[in-house]
Amino acid sequence: MYETYNGGRCPKVHRRDMKAVFLDRDGVINIDSGYVYHRNDFVFLDGIFDLLKLLKSLSFTIFIVTNQSGIARGYYKESDFLHLMEWVKDEFHKDSIDIKDISFCPHHPEITGECLCRKPKAGMLIQLAKKYNINMQISIMIGDKNSDIQACQNARLAKCYKVKSSIYDIIHQIKNDYKEEI
Ligand SMILES: [Mg+2]
Ligand SMILES: [Zn+2]
Repeated sequence: MYETYNGGRCPKVHRRDMKAVFLDRDGVINIDSGYVYHRNDFVFLDGIFDLLKLLKSLSFTIFIVTNQSGIARGYYKESDFLHLMEWVKDEFHKDSIDIKDISFCPHHPEITGECLCRKPKAGMLIQLAKKYNINMQISIMIGDKNSDIQACQNARLAKCYKVKSSIYDIIHQIKNDYKEEI
């Protein structure tokens, strides 16, 4: 337990105590109309603001993890994505919802080769976990595709929620799963 160090300030022991929710973007935050990269095409899903407020009240720190192969495909630029996401963060911020960080995979295996981040791989989640000392055993993910659920399982998160028809179903499930904490 006692690491050696060369004097100076005693290094803090890293505690993996952050409780995180990893959200997919398309089909969870916004309507997935295919390769959305401009705010004019970005339509927030009904209930997403309520869901994020609920998660905030349950002390989850909010992250977005999203495959953006549209960048590899040349449909839009990384800067388009980043610009859009700044706007998305601002929209949430107006409602006192803080998005801690956004991780995105700009690759596509047939165009850019294999990578470690594209879901169903857990690379984006693991990278964020290291950066923020996230405790995966108390963290959850919300996605709309099997690849999200697989990434969630690969990262060994506590719970994996799949959006089927409505965000309100997820709100209902989370209220039920965390009823002792509400
Ligand atoms: Mg999706
Ligand atoms: Zn990638």
